[in-house]
Amino acid sequence: MKIETIPQEGYEKVVKCEDPESGLRAVIAVHSTALGPALGGLRMWPYGSWDDAIFDVLRLSKGMTYKSAVADTGLGGGKSVIIGNSKTEKSEALFRAMGRFIDSLGGTYITAEDVGTCVEDMVHVRKETKFCTGLPLELGSSGDPSPWTALGTFLGIKACLEEVYGSADFADRTVAIQGCGHVGAFLADLLHEQGAKMIFADITPERAQELADRTGGIVGDPATILEAECDVLAPCALGAVVNDETLPNFRSKIIAGAANNVLLREEHGQRLKEAGILYAPDYVINAGGIINVSIEVEGDYDEARSRAKVENIYNALQQIFKISRTEDIPTSEAANRLAQERLNQPARS
Ligand code: NAD
Repeated sequence: MKIETIPQEGYEKVVKCEDPESGLRAVIAVHSTALGPALGGLRMWPYGSWDDAIFDVLRLSKGMTYKSAVADTGLGGGKSVIIGNSKTEKSEALFRAMGRFIDSLGGTYITAEDVGTCVEDMVHVRKETKFCTGLPLELGSSGDPSPWTALGTFLGIKACLEEVYGSADFADRTVAIQGCGHVGAFLADLLHEQGAKMIFADITPERAQELADRTGGIVGDPATILEAECDVLAPCALGAVVNDETLPNFRSKIIAGAANNVLLREEHGQRLKEAGILYAPDYVINAGGIINVSIEVEGDYDEARSRAKVENIYNALQQIFKISRTEDIPTSEAANRLAQERLNQPARS
């Protein structure tokens, strides 16, 4: 096993990990532990080079710091990536080697599932380190994060409706949901309970159809869902949906969904503001899952505590909208400011 520290300005620790026996090539980035241990998922992706992997893990780990800071999870930000194909190159030895590297950081980094990894992989990691979450329920896990992410997203949409229309009467509103997977489905149920009308689109049309049947909604075309006539556009599939091409075509006054990295570039936050579209910053509105995991990390997982904390997403967004209004800055920038302010405060004991 070989571990090498890569000095990186603005990051507490970045390590390159190699284990020739299992074939593991990984990078762990601890961006900040100012507010607590750095928690963030383990991604497995066929990066073309070490540089690509490092670029990604740096970006993702910093994002986790901001997300946890605004969500007040008492956690810092980190992330790890394995270079490899998650369909063909997984093995128990690979994830156990990863577990040993994580363990060697002494708890400054805590891992979880991410793109390309699953509960089974975490079970192997857990054999080598206790600094691992996202385990099966019977091993003390907090379970599937998606319903919590959906709850936070729902409350975020409520905050947006109040900001734009002065009321969150869902019965008068239409929400277009792009992506009918885990989060999209739970979100649809919450919106349906409140009487919202919905348009669903998914590249797997049966998923959209199933939700439409269940909630009395309609199925839209995934190619044009971003242009749908609606009050709220909820991206729950991919990132980068707000870009130069899509921007002129939005017809909703609100963009609020669970997807990560909704803005292609930071400047698109300003462009949304200029277009009069209220944007719920992605890492704020989709923090329900990480909040739930943070309750697991605190120990003695308690669902009621988790719910109360996820409900704070509503307040966090209200605060961000207020900063955006008073400072005349995009909501994306207001969220970063709030995160930075929290990072500058002393950590909870
Ligand atoms: P998922 O894979 O279960 O669902 C995504 C759905 O989007 C799939 O049904 C897929 O077919 C569909 N899709 C993909 N490309 C599409 C396109 N171009 N148009 C329409 N549909 C498309 O994922 P999920 O867990 O529901 O997560 C959804 C989004 O929320 C992702 O961006 C994820 O990173 C983000 N997110 C999820 C969580 C969580 O708790 N699951 C937490 C934070 C952020």
